[in-house]
Amino acid sequence: MHNIDLHKIDEMITKWLKNVDQIIPNLIAEMETDTKLNRFDLVTNVDKQIQNEFQVFLQTQLEGHRLFAEEKNNDEIDPRQGHVWIMDPIDGTSNLVKQQEDYCIILGYFVDGEPKLSYIYDYPHQHLYKAIENEGAFDNAQVMKQPPNMDIEEAILSFNTQVMNDETIHQLYDASFSHRIIGSCGLDSIRVIKGQFGAHINTNPKPWDIAAQFLFAKELGLKMTALNGGPIDLSTAAPFIISNEGCYSAVLEILNSDMGYER
Ligand code: NAP
Ligand code: CA
Ligand code: CA
Repeated sequence: MHNIDLHKIDEMITKWLKNVDQIIPNLIAEMETDTKLNRFDLVTNVDKQIQNEFQVFLQTQLEGHRLFAEEKNNDEIDPRQGHVWIMDPIDGTSNLVKQQEDYCIILGYFVDGEPKLSYIYDYPHQHLYKAIENEGAFDNAQVMKQPPNMDIEEAILSFNTQVMNDETIHQLYDASFSHRIIGSCGLDSIRVIKGQFGAHINTNPKPWDIAAQFLFAKELGLKMTALNGGPIDLSTAAPFIISNEGCYSAVLEILNSDMGYER
């Protein structure tokens, strides 16, 4: 695929993402919240409507491209084959419901499993982060630079403390500078991508939680692996870390020491 095609697709997607600015305020004004598996597992009309709009956009504007997304059935789609968009229409739904802040749209475009274009749209703060294969990453129009190496002692680490055993949590606290969690896998990852956090860990992500991060990591020299250090299968995802190179090995060593990180 030639870059010229990617640029054309990027232009279309950027325009589509800017158009959601027109619909989000009304959707939030009439927000309806449902629960899925339990009372913490939320979905709103905002998630559903954004995904529906994108599905219609793909069907009408990008023939042959398929959608693999959180709020739909994906049984018929192998994201490693053909032209596939992986989408989390709202990442950080709890934040949307409780705070109306710190949520984003995650989009990754893959051709035969290779990441070509990636987007994390932080609508509340009006930052569109994008990565283009072999061309780097951008924060709105600004070129993003590879963050400098950060030792674990200097690093803020981001992880959900509900899912790790106390010993591992305290080892991570002791070894690092501090702990923070935003509550959106996409936005916690962006902090690593911008060099603000050293690493973000999610021990149970789905493909849409991490779809955009592959290309940002590749373009900006960050580490993104499973927690055993191996590659991540796009179709299933796996316990994952996105990390600054400087603290990656030290964080993984703690996670995998003794009996491992799980509670
Ligand atoms: P939350 O605010 O609901 O979500 C924080 C982030 O994690 C969002 O990116 C969210 O995506 C994603 N997420 C939601 N459910 C998840 C799950 N079961 N496993 C992994 N990621 C998930 O998180 P919370 O209120 O702190 O926790 C809600 C539940 O999710 C709890 O049971 C928690 O243990 C679990 N969780 C686990 C991890 C992990 O690393 N294993 C991380 C976060 C949450 P959406 O907004 O698109 O749902
Ligand atoms: Ca998510
Ligand atoms: Ca979601």
